[in-house]
Amino acid sequence: ETKTPRATCRRPDPDSTDLASMTYSLRKRILVTGGAGFLGSHLCQRLLAEGHDVICVDNFFTGTKDNIAQLLDNPYFELMRHDVTFPLYLEVDEIYNLACPASPIHYQFDPVQTTKTSVHGAINMLGLAKRLKAKIFQASTSEVYGDPTIHPQPESYWGNVNPNGPRSCYDEGKRCAETLFFDYRRQHGLRVKLARIFNTYGPRMHPNDGRVVSNFIVQALRGEPITLYGNGTQTRSFCYVDDLIEGFIRLMDSPDALAGPINLGNPGEFTMIELAETIRDLTGSQSPLVHEALPTDDPRQRQPDIALARSALDWEPRVALREGLKPTIDYFEQLLRLG
Ligand code: NAD
Ligand code: UDP
Ligand code: UDP
Repeated sequence: ETKTPRATCRRPDPDSTDLASMTYSLRKRILVTGGAGFLGSHLCQRLLAEGHDVICVDNFFTGTKDNIAQLLDNPYFELMRHDVTFPLYLEVDEIYNLACPASPIHYQFDPVQTTKTSVHGAINMLGLAKRLKAKIFQASTSEVYGDPTIHPQPESYWGNVNPNGPRSCYDEGKRCAETLFFDYRRQHGLRVKLARIFNTYGPRMHPNDGRVVSNFIVQALRGEPITLYGNGTQTRSFCYVDDLIEGFIRLMDSPDALAGPINLGNPGEFTMIELAETIRDLTGSQSPLVHEALPTDDPRQRQPDIALARSALDWEPRVALREGLKPTIDYFEQLLRLG
């Protein structure tokens, strides 16, 4: 399978007078909110590699300077400490709105701020996009489906979400952001792009956010017991970060008529026992598998339906779980070595 070719925008040779320098006009100024986070830092890196100017806005709640340290020397990269719940005045061509804590431990730390980030953050970034007539991408989530009653979930499924539980600040915040994106589109003709992201893993994910991939890798590397919640037969589908970022860019570059929402994730489904054994194998760890209580409302299964992404973006994940786990394990190994 081959990827659809995309226009590349290489930086022009300053001495060149030929047509190649016209590619210069393809260079865009792109704002990435939440750019110092896990996904945001990979997106900034990819956009810079394509020759764009990138402005990363982050309040460093869950993001770190370490995530973008290797970008700071790049003159086409700018870092701005700013909280998206406050207005932001900049001049850019495109906006990727990723700012929001993403794991339960982080988003439940200050749930009111989580809702503000999703809702006020969306209003401010949409206001900015409206003033600039800029195209704007929203990082939505599979959590908008809540505790789904159908599997796998197509984009047309409206979800099954508790409006006032401990997860609601995230789920309902993201759902309200979706409402705002589509109302700015209907009311103001904004060009919007909305991706519903499923579980993603890779280097720079948080070591302490309690998610299964980071937990298992850290436990395996430390030789500690690997904690399987419940009997470990529940399944999840994990997308490698590079595949996901390719999906972001394809969606952003797609025709204006395609606003989404569009599911992005890897449909390959694994039980938690399979995940634990793969990680134990790849790390050469002797860690035993132990069973702990299954959290309440833990979904039995989660798998994205990516038929729309396949047909509309010609996109599907390419990195198999074993392959993606290798650089992720390398990352955690280095992190643990540095203490
Ligand atoms: P992350 O926590 O690593 O990144 C979020 C970034 O947003 C952090 O750098 C954080 O400091 C920043 N941030 C938070 N609140 C902010 C605010 N008010 N103002 C400015 N910056 C703020 O999480 P991630 O996994 O990279 O997730 C990025 C986006 O993708 C989030 O919107 C998340 O909801 C969405 N998403 C991620 C996943 C996943 O599997 N990682 C799945 C579904 C959706
Ligand atoms: N906004 C912003 N940057 C801009 C333009 C607007 O942060 O460049 C914010 C502004 O604070 C406003 C929000 O975006 O509260 C929504 O803007 P919009 O124009 O939709 O609404 P209004 O200004 O009429 O409230
Ligand atoms: N899980 C586990 N051990 C852990 C952490 C998580 O068995 O140390 C299980 C968890 O019960 C769930 C799955 O792994 O069934 C995925 O959990 P995670 O919190 O990563 O993501 P989500 O439930 O949001 O998909």
